[in-house]
Amino acid sequence: IPSIFLHPPPTIRPSPTPVIVHLRRDQLLPLELNPFKTTPNETLNTRFGHFPHKTLLGVQCGSLVKSSLVGNDRKRKRNGEAEDDGAGGDAPSGFIHVLAPTPELWTISLPHRTQVVYTADSSYILHRLRTRPGIHIIEAGAGSGSFTHAAVRGVYNGYPTGIGSKGKVFSYEYHAPRAEKLREEIREHGFEGLVEVTQGDVCKDGFRLQMGRDMRNNAMDGQIQLEEGVEKMGVNGDVCEEDSEESPEATAVFLDLPAPWLAVPHLTRNHQVPTAPLPIPSLDTPVPPTNTGTPSSAIAASPTTTNQTLISKITKSWGPLHPTLPVQICTFSPCIEQIHRTVSVLRKLSWTECEMVEVQHRKLEVRRQRPGGMAGADGAYSNIEEAVRKLKGVVGWRKRPIDETEENVARKGRENNNKRRRDFDEQDKNPIVTTRLEPELKTHTSYLLFATLPPPWSAADEEAARLRVEVEK
Ligand code: SAM
Repeated sequence: IPSIFLHPPPTIRPSPTPVIVHLRRDQLLPLELNPFKTTPNETLNTRFGHFPHKTLLGVQCGSLVKSSLVGNDRKRKRNGEAEDDGAGGDAPSGFIHVLAPTPELWTISLPHRTQVVYTADSSYILHRLRTRPGIHIIEAGAGSGSFTHAAVRGVYNGYPTGIGSKGKVFSYEYHAPRAEKLREEIREHGFEGLVEVTQGDVCKDGFRLQMGRDMRNNAMDGQIQLEEGVEKMGVNGDVCEEDSEESPEATAVFLDLPAPWLAVPHLTRNHQVPTAPLPIPSLDTPVPPTNTGTPSSAIAASPTTTNQTLISKITKSWGPLHPTLPVQICTFSPCIEQIHRTVSVLRKLSWTECEMVEVQHRKLEVRRQRPGGMAGADGAYSNIEEAVRKLKGVVGWRKRPIDETEENVARKGRENNNKRRRDFDEQDKNPIVTTRLEPELKTHTSYLLFATLPPPWSAADEEAARLRVEVEK
């Protein structure tokens, strides 16, 4: 079944994936309408009213749902006639909106297990990592899974899980309960096949996948059991061969952990470049270009190449990165010293184009105010003197001199009112535009460090390229 995060259904229906209840602009909560865990008799109790699950099922996603105990129901309840809804107490007559989940809504409603990456940052990071359908992304640590969800949307190629789906997020988390909780969420959210969670310390053990880890541990314990998956990975006999172990072959990496510079040295390519030049093509046979991502071994074995004299040896070694494509990295660190350490390690290891960015996402609330309007919620007086003068004016009008006739008072009142109306009309034409910062914008201020690992290019490649140009001439 395709994930409702990626294929929102038209109506709210029972599902292991939670729906999102929108209470207020800044207050959203995930709600399980899971037929295996909850029953339609259960009730969502909020400060905006009580909502039995059965009143939410079947409504259109995005709909406003009124609290079930309003109007006649409330009256009947007061008279002891209404059924007991189990909510306890009288219900406020409010409303909520029920929404289909999206990665962005999940980010602002998920149960926090750690600090999380918010959409202002994750959208920029995914853009700079050149995320597109079908690519493989590594993320460490996974934490509460906020970035994981955003990344899934980026790599998902539109096919429901398992049918031609190629994009994938490889998540690493060393805190075992957090890794387990994320696995559970991935299952419930329908992301199986799109996210693979591995529990481990990437700074110490690198980015090997869980299955490879399990095999090595078993080999060490002398408890090798050849399972179906193990055979698929090309393991010979009872020895775990490093070269044949599965690799994420990622082209994008996001590191959100305290010491990213310790993880960077583990980010190597899955297969090293050939130590000998690539074959020289003859003029009449088509040849795949050198750096298209085709592993060098495939080029060597290709039936379309001739003059295969120059490839003699390909150095193989396991690494989590794609063998040939450029790789983008982003690290997320709260202080500049951490950035310095990461930059120096990245540079030593041939990463280029290091650039640091801080996303200063601010939302401005823009209002129009009357420059000299009535004081009150808007506080529209421009200074104290003006406020006092206006106040005196109002009080003076209200204080009635002893010799004033009723008629005079009424006339002065009318004149005063007319003048104020004219003033307001004038001020309405020239309002002051004021702005203020939205107070509770959620962002986690950190520095984003970006870098690129260029495609491998050796002296041998250079020589082969030169020869190819000559042949073409
Ligand atoms: N990006 C996550 C999100 O959006 O929800 C939040 C990540 S949280 C700030 C950092 C996580 O990194 C923690 O859960 C921590 O356990 C994990 N972590 C720290 N060091 C690690 C390491 N060496 N290997 C794997 N995970 C690590």
